[in-house]
Amino acid sequence: MGKGFFHVPKAVNEPVKTYAPGSPEREEVLLTYKDLYNSNMEVPLYIGSKEIKTGDTKDIRPPHDHKHQVGTYHIAEKKHIEEAIDEAIKARKKWAKLEWEQRAAIFLKAADLIAGPYRARINAATMIGQSKNIFQAEIDSACELCDFLRFNVEYMAEMYDEQPNSSDGNWNRIEYRPLEGFVYAITPFNFTAISGNLPSSAALMGNVALWKPSASQMLSAQVIMEVFKEAGLPDGVINMVMGDPEMITNTVLDSPDFAGVHFTGSTNVFKGIWGKIGNNINKYKTYPRIVGETGGKDFIVAHPTSNPKQVATAISRGAFEYQGQKCSAASRVYLPESLWPEIQDLLKEDLESFKMGSPEDMSNFINAVIHEGAFDKLAGYIDQAKKDKDAEVVIGGNYDKSEGYFIEPTVIVAKDAHYTTMETELFGPVVTIHVYDDKNYTEEKWRDLLETVDNTSIYGLTGGVFSGDRYMTAIATDMLQNAAGNFYINDKPTGAVVGQQPFGGARGSGTNDKAGSKMNLLRWTSVRLIKETFVPATDYRYPFLGE
Ligand code: NAD
Repeated sequence: MGKGFFHVPKAVNEPVKTYAPGSPEREEVLLTYKDLYNSNMEVPLYIGSKEIKTGDTKDIRPPHDHKHQVGTYHIAEKKHIEEAIDEAIKARKKWAKLEWEQRAAIFLKAADLIAGPYRARINAATMIGQSKNIFQAEIDSACELCDFLRFNVEYMAEMYDEQPNSSDGNWNRIEYRPLEGFVYAITPFNFTAISGNLPSSAALMGNVALWKPSASQMLSAQVIMEVFKEAGLPDGVINMVMGDPEMITNTVLDSPDFAGVHFTGSTNVFKGIWGKIGNNINKYKTYPRIVGETGGKDFIVAHPTSNPKQVATAISRGAFEYQGQKCSAASRVYLPESLWPEIQDLLKEDLESFKMGSPEDMSNFINAVIHEGAFDKLAGYIDQAKKDKDAEVVIGGNYDKSEGYFIEPTVIVAKDAHYTTMETELFGPVVTIHVYDDKNYTEEKWRDLLETVDNTSIYGLTGGVFSGDRYMTAIATDMLQNAAGNFYINDKPTGAVVGQQPFGGARGSGTNDKAGSKMNLLRWTSVRLIKETFVPATDYRYPFLGE
């Protein structure tokens, strides 16, 4: 602690810029886009003070223009991962002792760099590398990342302020120590903000980290490291390593100093990592913290009393923004037969008005899906739905990978509420709708439907109910208690904002440690209680032992 109880600046959500035609931010981001597109960026490994170019490289290509190469990134061998662990542990000596306000200042500065001089660069990198339109890039890589950095500082200060009571003659204090070892952060392709947050939230609490970004997020990962460096993050505190995820993970999990994993990605990968940690448990100096936010099969369920236009808009935005590649994206929808014709017309109108193409053309609402693997998987499910008796493709259904990985926003109607695309996470611009019979509708039938919603998938991430009847809303809120960690009433299930809707789900969707909250930061600390007695006892005898 320094010489004062410092108050941190009040965190407020970073305002979202409009990028309207003629705005200065639009002009700047388009110029930066062109620059980056032709820059042939080379992304090194960041290990300790070194930027290592191993010479073994992979190409970086925009998903919407996969014939064009925008850069390369370097691949680590096992020895580099071992070196990164050594460097992290070396850096820990000074970092874990540094006063909290010094750590806070680094990450507050990083937020201001992103909000200001790096805003266009991090947005353009996200647009090119992850195929996001400017609005999706802005709310993610600029605003949400700033929010994570600033709110985490505020939460850390609040947490440090939480102290135990003391009784006469002694003073109890709690110290929020960093974990004894290093934290391994593994991040997904779909949110630049998550990539920045997973290593930095642990580092803010005094930990050192190895960060393994997704191979499909390398451009914006590089910008994040540039920002951390410029903000003054000491060498070795966050080490960025890329390469074979299995090799990197096995090497990391073999280290006795492994103290925790901060993961976001798919469910099966997380379960595999959990299993390996379990098998290695006797190797570690400390019980590792295991934090993972994973897949989802997020729902919208509409009661017959809901408003068709509101439901249609929630599907258009909730299922298709960023091509449905949000863990929170609506992908299974339950609609009453009486409202379906109107909702279908509205949905068709919306989807037919979506333009699809490169994010550089700002009139495009939809861009490409992340890579060929995702494209082929989605095309396969669409083809199967076209063949299956139980399903019908009612909107969209076309795809083309000749230039970029473009999948037309697609709506499948499934007769069977357990049809495969009602249950499996597809992670793309495909939504499946089950239309239920609402003739002579009763509370009992609503309860049966909610039971189906609750039991249909292994996940429990997000979901929304639309209803104009408060009793029916209340029943859904109660019956779907465990179906979603983020539950929405009369709203789409996407778009959680740091400081407002802490995010995470349970069941197969993760450990629900709520990214962007104090609950998450607590996982990166190990509390030490210090009791100090001012005038210690000098006689063991208690009064009850008296004559
Ligand atoms: P992914 O699981 O393919 O990859 C995530 C990370 O894990 C990447 O860095 C990847 O390289 C790494 N990885 C892959 N195989 C590995 C292995 N065998 N061992 C160790 N690491 C490995 O996920 P993705 O495609 O990048 O992201 C999409 C998934 O992430 C979806 O399932 C989505 O629902 C989920 N997601 C969840 C949240 C949430 O908050 N719940 C947020 C974003 C994304």
